[in-house]
This record gives sequence, structure tokens and C-alpha cells, in this order.
Amino acid sequence: MSEQEYHTMEILCRDCERTFTFDEKEQAFFAGKGYQTPKRCVPCRRAKHARYNDDREYLKRASIEVECWDCHELALVDFQPAPDRPIYCGRCWQKHKPDSQGG
Ligand SMILES: [Zn+2]
Ligand SMILES: [Zn+2]
Repeated sequence: MSEQEYHTMEILCRDCERTFTFDEKEQAFFAGKGYQTPKRCVPCRRAKHARYNDDREYLKRASIEVECWDCHELALVDFQPAPDRPIYCGRCWQKHKPDSQGG
């Protein structure tokens, strides 16, 4: 078993576009976990992680495939559609959503 050597890296964060240091300890930790080299600095990673969990929850819910009543394209919705109510994809929904102005 050979010990891998790590050298501190400077990485440009893709979120805040600032350079951050990815040091040996972190690299060893990431390698141990089988993670890839991070593309974001720590604060952005944390923010991303928080968002990621939200996204995952969202994607889990947004995975119901329905056919748009208008253009008949498949759309993903985050709710269980009632069978007797029209379902529209995002684009058609813009056309069909109830207009709150005037009448
Ligand atoms: Zn950043
Ligand atoms: Zn549509």
C-alpha cells in the first residue's frame, strides 16, 4: 500500500469565480471518499449542498410524467394530477393559467 502524495491546489470556484485552496488534507479526504476534485469553494459548496438537498426533494416530487392537454408533449409535474383536470406543460400553462386581471 503506497501513500499518495497531495499538493495544495488552487481552484477557481465556478460559482463565485474566486480562487480557493484545495489543500492536502482535503484532497486526501476527497480521495478517501471517492469524490472528485471540487469545483466550488467551501462556502459555495455548502450553499450548493443545501440547494442540492432541496433539488433532490424537488426532483423526487417533480417526477410525475403527464401529457400536456394542449400540445400533448410530456411534462414533469410535482404533484399528483387529478384525472379530470387539465394538465399543461410549462409553456401551455402560461397560456391557460387563469388571468387574474380583468374578466
Ligand atoms: Zn465560491
Ligand atoms: Zn403543452
